[in-house]
Amino acid sequence: MNIILLGPPGSGKGTQAAKISEMYDIPAISTGDMLRESIAAGTELGRQAESFMSIGELVPDEVVINIVRERLKEKDCEKGVILDGFPRSIHQAEELDNILEEMGKRIDVVLNISVEDEEIIRRLSRRRVCSRCHNVYHLDFKPTEKQGVCDACGADVVQRADDNEDTVKHRLEVYRKQSEPLIGYYLKRDVMKDVPGDEPIDKVMETVSHLIEAS
Ligand code: AMP
Repeated sequence: MNIILLGPPGSGKGTQAAKISEMYDIPAISTGDMLRESIAAGTELGRQAESFMSIGELVPDEVVINIVRERLKEKDCEKGVILDGFPRSIHQAEELDNILEEMGKRIDVVLNISVEDEEIIRRLSRRRVCSRCHNVYHLDFKPTEKQGVCDACGADVVQRADDNEDTVKHRLEVYRKQSEPLIGYYLKRDVMKDVPGDEPIDKVMETVSHLIEAS
């Protein structure tokens, strides 16, 4: 089962990806998390990516496509994957089709999670993430049990550098311009399903699992 999660930043893709991953025992691949790991490791790729990520721009297609191509070759992806934050442009989607075709695989379902801009800004300005396992928290709606400490792995929980209001607004503009056209791209294939993302996490998960079961 190969699943793509589409939706603006803050729509809950990461949270839903983690739940689907647990439920279906397939890996969640987040290009954002992989790029942040490269930044933390101080690699050349990380240095390159950081200059784009810090201002809310997309990292160049070829960089991200290469990361995903290599990741999809790993053994744990055999049964399927959940792609969170990739593709983010039509070019990335076309390249993903080529990569999957070479591997004899295909996309089974694309879940498009929609959330109003105002709600996104509210969510992201108080979002916190685990610096190690990437678990997602929210200061009001999903706080950690112990302040600043991840419930799952005990590492520090931090605010992402690009979760400040100005950068979030720019990320939303980038999403509308470069990523939203993907909805039309996947609608043509009859794999697209809409998920109202303004609901509580468990309600969204219920919709998501019904749609996956039906696909
Ligand atoms: P995310 O964690 O998905 O919100 O991504 C954070 C940032 O990482 C984005 O604002 C981009 O700068 C970069 N990024 C993540 N995924 C991609 C992608 N598929 N293509 C280009 N840039 C990406």
